[in-house]
Amino acid sequence: MEKRVYIETYGCQMNEHDSERILRLLEGYSYLETKDAKEADFILINTCSVREKPEHKVYSALGRYKWLKEKRGAIIGVAGCVAQQEGDRLLDRVPYLDMVIGTHAISMIPQLLQEIEVSGERVCETSFDRNGEYLNAILPKKPFDKVKSYVTIMQGCDHFCSFCIVPYVRGREKSRSGVEIIQEVRHLAEMGVKEVCLLGQNVNGYGKGLEEEIIFSELLERINGIEGLDRIRFTTSHPKDLSEELIQAFSRLPKLCEHIHLPFQSGSDKILRAMHRGYTKGSYLEKIDRLKKAHPSIAITSDVIVGFPGEGEEDFNETLDLMKSVQFDDLFSFKYSPRRGTRAAQFTEKIEEKVKQDRLTMLQGIQREVTLQKNQALEGLVEEVLVEGRSKQSDRDVTGRTRSNKIVNFEGDLSLIGELAPVQITKAYAHSLRGEILSTHCRMRS
Ligand code: SAM
Ligand code: SF4
Repeated sequence: MEKRVYIETYGCQMNEHDSERILRLLEGYSYLETKDAKEADFILINTCSVREKPEHKVYSALGRYKWLKEKRGAIIGVAGCVAQQEGDRLLDRVPYLDMVIGTHAISMIPQLLQEIEVSGERVCETSFDRNGEYLNAILPKKPFDKVKSYVTIMQGCDHFCSFCIVPYVRGREKSRSGVEIIQEVRHLAEMGVKEVCLLGQNVNGYGKGLEEEIIFSELLERINGIEGLDRIRFTTSHPKDLSEELIQAFSRLPKLCEHIHLPFQSGSDKILRAMHRGYTKGSYLEKIDRLKKAHPSIAITSDVIVGFPGEGEEDFNETLDLMKSVQFDDLFSFKYSPRRGTRAAQFTEKIEEKVKQDRLTMLQGIQREVTLQKNQALEGLVEEVLVEGRSKQSDRDVTGRTRSNKIVNFEGDLSLIGELAPVQITKAYAHSLRGEILSTHCRMRS
């Protein structure tokens, strides 16, 4: 008998992708996805504990679904980082919770569901010792998104930045075999997927510990050769490990989109040291220069944290100065939030909440202007847009992204979905661009 599963996802692309993998897996056990929790037999909250905000949201989400357990007997589970970190404590804290599933145990969900159905017992599976089975491909019968897809190339992280919970909740760095990755991307391309985004916390470290000798730029090269695929992206790369081979790949590989997300976290050398990031403001800026030389129109986005313990006014000014030098296309900015178990959580020079907020507001104001200016610089130019679907704003519009990852909306019909369209940019906004499609014979900006 068919059953329904509802998944609510918090956090980054890895979590989004994990949710897709879980849905794929459950399809094989007659669980179909529903977007309405009220009709679900299984409700899964896929959580994130990287920052405070998403972590709190998880608990309020659980509270929201309690009545569905009472009324319909729905099985309620928690997966992801919070599940990994809290384990049994979650079961103690939330009496109506049935399942806690750690970041390495996704493949066990169908079996555990069965156990719960038969015995009514509550279960918790958070062991890390699973021989990298998390990385095994769950090949879809049809892609989740017809146009683009995530592909996991590695899991975990060995960096242990002092603020970050990821190595504790995702485990140590482990790469997936090149052969398997290529097989999955080929499979996706055969099903019509045009763009893949390769996922890992530190893709530059790809290949370590594998039997075959392969580094990330070589993996990109192999994927670049896959027929039918138009575009390749990846996230995230750590500035310390950004290699010359990868920088050169931006000028060498035509399918590799000219966009890099390179989190800098702080512009102050003192704070970068305390964060244990392994680079300085100067060496970060030097890599940015090399990237811009390799591809002059490369788009650069980043992450930054304000209010890290010990961050004085002069340290914050260094962050603003770095932003001024780079002129990021976009920036994800966060107030530091202490994460239990990390080294920085023990640091004593805490920054007041108001100071954190003021710095965040100021920094975001500056970035908003830069992002708008960057977008305005595209007005009048023709960009290659991969059309992804119907625009949310108007039934007459479709939406897609430029190679530099900017959203473009323009009038067009659904037959364009999956096509690379030449679009002239007519108007720039803070978060998107407006354009007009040209005849496919027009040349695009290179
Ligand atoms: N692996 C990526 C890297 O090395 O840059 C980052 C991955 S992390 C999941 C995403 C972002 O969350 C980080 O770049 C950082 O800006 C932010 N972040 C992580 N821990 C944080 C914390 N304790 N407080 C505030 N922001 C945090
Ligand atoms: Fe966290 Fe640092 Fe690893 Fe990124 S590189 S996931 S910030 S520990």
